Amino acid sequence: MNKNKVIRSQQLRFMVYTLIAFTLLFGMFGAIIFGRIQSTLYAKTDSDLTASKRWLETGGAGAERGKEPVRDKYGFPPAKGRGLNPRVIPLLWSDGHIANAEQIGFTYNHYFSEMSFDPATIGVISNVTVQGKYHFRTVSIPYPAAEGSYVQLLVNVDPEQNLIDNFKRIIILCSALFILLSISASYILSRKMMKPIIRSWDKQVEFVENASHELRTPLTIIQNKLELLQTMPEKRIIDTFENIALSLSETRRLSRMTADLLTLARADSTETQLEKQTIELDEFVNNVCGPYKEIAELSEKSMQLRLQSRTRLKADPERLHQLLVILLDNALKYTGEHDSIAISTYAKENKAFIEVSDTGIGISEEGLSRIFDRFYREDRARSREQGGSGLGLSIAQWIVHSHHGTIQALHNEPKGVIFRIRLPKQ
Ligand code: ADP
Repeated sequence: MNKNKVIRSQQLRFMVYTLIAFTLLFGMFGAIIFGRIQSTLYAKTDSDLTASKRWLETGGAGAERGKEPVRDKYGFPPAKGRGLNPRVIPLLWSDGHIANAEQIGFTYNHYFSEMSFDPATIGVISNVTVQGKYHFRTVSIPYPAAEGSYVQLLVNVDPEQNLIDNFKRIIILCSALFILLSISASYILSRKMMKPIIRSWDKQVEFVENASHELRTPLTIIQNKLELLQTMPEKRIIDTFENIALSLSETRRLSRMTADLLTLARADSTETQLEKQTIELDEFVNNVCGPYKEIAELSEKSMQLRLQSRTRLKADPERLHQLLVILLDNALKYTGEHDSIAISTYAKENKAFIEVSDTGIGISEEGLSRIFDRFYREDRARSREQGGSGLGLSIAQWIVHSHHGTIQALHNEPKGVIFRIRLPKQ
């Protein structure tokens, strides 16, 4: 699959998702604010309408005190004193006409002359626009005195409506502006989100390329040796022993390398679970180093242990063992006769330190910064000769990091390398 194409389409997808999320969030935010403002603005009007409606239904002020209600000639309680709220305009609808036009006088002529009764307003407070520009909140109730007649109560809400219209305009404008801004924000975010993906894609490709290259070499050697053996079926095993031994050693290298690759692949997918236990560091290091001390002495190298941490760690013993083995193996591989190797442990503040140093061939300045990269080897030929594949220190670094520690490679004086590991104490 073409990398650029995949990355571009993934970035576009991220961008669209972020844009949708932004738009939804702004939309919801605007709608909630708008709804709250609208209901707050109408709240007082609606409570006036509800009170007036109830007042009319129950028969007015007189009825509250058990008296015969006082009514005007239209049958309404009078709109004065404790009467109908003066904000509220009552329209009496009879046979589709306003029967109290005279009572509401100028207001009637000005506003309601062309209005008709809307049964949907019965019992429900709603908005009505008169002459296309005057806004009212309204509710209707059946008129008790005459069957088929209704009283419609209206309150003018032009100032509130103006405010709401202005607010709506501002909200729409701001939303449009924010959506435009979020297009650029989504673009920038999607690019940022893609960066680690691109990086890990590149690393993955490089890893696979290196791995196949590394696997190909021993495979080619084994194939050549086997083909050679095929050409001489009459020979005895003893006569072709060298070829068989070489194939076997390459097979071992292959199996070691695939195990290392598997460890790293699992580390990448965070599939590997550490099984941490409390470990006496000095005792643990001493036990791991024991057999290596003997190997060192056999090859005329000295190995000293200075274990003074007197510390306990919470660590996975199997992984810690693997870490020490990688460093000890390297120390033995990259030192010559009469060189010395030292392993020391000590504690400082709340950290435990393990140092593996040697007086061997050392590492170049460039090497120090790349030593933990996968497949990096200072001297490929020498490393290969020693059975190395450049994966050991990557695994070591992963082990240390997964224990929340750090690992450093430093020059040793006058020659050689120091690997310093810092781990948190228990
Ligand atoms: P390898 O299997 O090649 O040893 P490592 O990841 O363990 O792989 O090491 C990477 C490279 O680091 C080695 O090829 C070697 O060049 C260098 N290196 C590691 N340890 C030492 C050491 N103690 N002294 C000198 N060079 C070292």
